[in-house]
Amino acid sequence: MSVAENIKNVRERINAACLRAGRDPKEVTLISVSKTKPVSMLMEAYEAGERDYGENKVQEITEKRPQIPEDAKFHMIGHLQTNKVGQVIDKVVLIHSCDSVHLAEKIEKEAAKRDMIANVLLEVNVAREESKFGMFLEDVIPNLKEIQAFPHVCVKGMMTIAPNVENAEENRKYFKELYQLYVDIKNKNIDNGTMSVLSMGMTGDFEVAVEEGATMIRVGTGIFGSR
Ligand SMILES: *Cc1c(COP(=O)(O)O)cnc(C)c1O
Repeated sequence: MSVAENIKNVRERINAACLRAGRDPKEVTLISVSKTKPVSMLMEAYEAGERDYGENKVQEITEKRPQIPEDAKFHMIGHLQTNKVGQVIDKVVLIHSCDSVHLAEKIEKEAAKRDMIANVLLEVNVAREESKFGMFLEDVIPNLKEIQAFPHVCVKGMMTIAPNVENAEENRKYFKELYQLYVDIKNKNIDNGTMSVLSMGMTGDFEVAVEEGATMIRVGTGIFGSR
């Protein structure tokens, strides 16, 4: 199947999941995860109408960004080392992988230098997997409060990478837990009104994530094929 056909298929499945959950598909942003894929394939997605790209390496973002039309948006979804923040901060619309106060502090410094505000998501390791980055659920609110003191960092929401499972239903509980925290934070107004994004769901489990309230899903294999 072509990239365009894959996108059509993914979009249909998003729409069906939204219908099941009583949600408006406009609430869900599809991020085409183009890591390791050539610019020609990113352009196929562009021609099919997609504008949001997810990459996990700073170097790939700096190489691809100038080769894709200006109205495309890049998202940093991979682990970000503090020494690379300066290279990527002004090339992405959102950093999904802010996994510590320490990293947020570095983002603050680099954003201040450029007189800009950096949009971030707090990465949460909901399933507490040792192999994964991200803060634990119980650390989100204390960390959020610290990060809110940084004037050049805006916390737009949260992101999680669920476990790699055979049956997507196994991840439903993690998506529910993160959604619950998201709602709690908003209800208590801990976020000062800045939170509106829940980035969760990948090729294997995006329909379940959409049913559980995802506002951004990150689909790689399902669009561009295996890596
Ligand atoms: C690679 C990657 C994805 C996409 O994974 P697929 O299973 O190929 O859809 C999503 N999120 C993150 C953080 C990734 O690194």
